[in-house]
Amino acid sequence: MNKKITSEIFRDDPYKKECEAKILDFGDNWIILDQTVFYAEGGGQLGDTGLIKAGQEEIQIENTIKENTLIKHIFNSKFDFKIGDNVTCIIDWDRRYKLMKMHTSLHLLCSLVNAKVTGGSVGDGKGRLDFNLDFKPNKEELKDNLNDLIQGNHDITISWISTQELDKNPNLVKTMSVLPPRTNGTIRMVRIGDNIDYQPCGGTHVKNTSEIGLVEINKVENKGKLNKRVAISLV
Ligand SMILES: [Zn+2]
Repeated sequence: MNKKITSEIFRDDPYKKECEAKILDFGDNWIILDQTVFYAEGGGQLGDTGLIKAGQEEIQIENTIKENTLIKHIFNSKFDFKIGDNVTCIIDWDRRYKLMKMHTSLHLLCSLVNAKVTGGSVGDGKGRLDFNLDFKPNKEELKDNLNDLIQGNHDITISWISTQELDKNPNLVKTMSVLPPRTNGTIRMVRIGDNIDYQPCGGTHVKNTSEIGLVEINKVENKGKLNKRVAISLV
C-alpha cells in the first residue's frame, strides 16, 4: 500500500494563499488532500482556517491538524465529497498573516531573553512565551529592544541541517516544551538576520522583520520560581 502524504505548500511558501488539490480521504468532519496551503496546528501555532471549494460548493474550514504524514482540514457542515475530486483551498489570509507576524515576533523575543522557553502560544494578534528564568525581565526595556529589532529590517531565512548536526549542538534548541519536527532525518532551521536568532522551527514566518509593524508587551508575569511569562500583541 502506498503511504499517503499531504504535501505542505505552506512550508516552502508561507505567502501562498490558495492552491488546487485532490481529495485523498474524508470523514464526517474532516478532509485530507494531496497538498495544502493550510498550516496544521503545531509548535504552539494555531491551525489555519479558511475555505475549500469544489465546483459551486464551498465549506468553511474551522481548524487544521496534523496526523502523521497527513493533514486534516476540519469542518462542521454537510458536504458531498468524492475521493479524487479536485478542490481549491483558500486560507483566511488576514488571520494567517497575523499568525506569521506574531510567530516571528516571538523568535525575536526569544533572542532577547537569555533563558530556555518552557511554553508558549502563537495567536492571531497575541502570543506569549514562558521562560525558565528566576527574575522578571524589564517590560519597557524588552518592548524597546523588541521594536528596535523589528524595525531593523532583518531577513528571515530557512535552511536545513541533519538530525545528527542538531544532536551535536543541543543549544540550538531553545524550547524545552516543543521538540523540533524531524522530516526524513533533516531539521528545518529558521534564521533571523545574520545571528539574531537561529533555531529549529516548523512554523510560518514573515520574510522580513519590518513586516511586523510594532508590538506591545502586555504582561511580564511571575508564574513560578523558574517560570516568567511574557505576553505580547501586535499594535
Ligand atoms: Zn518559528
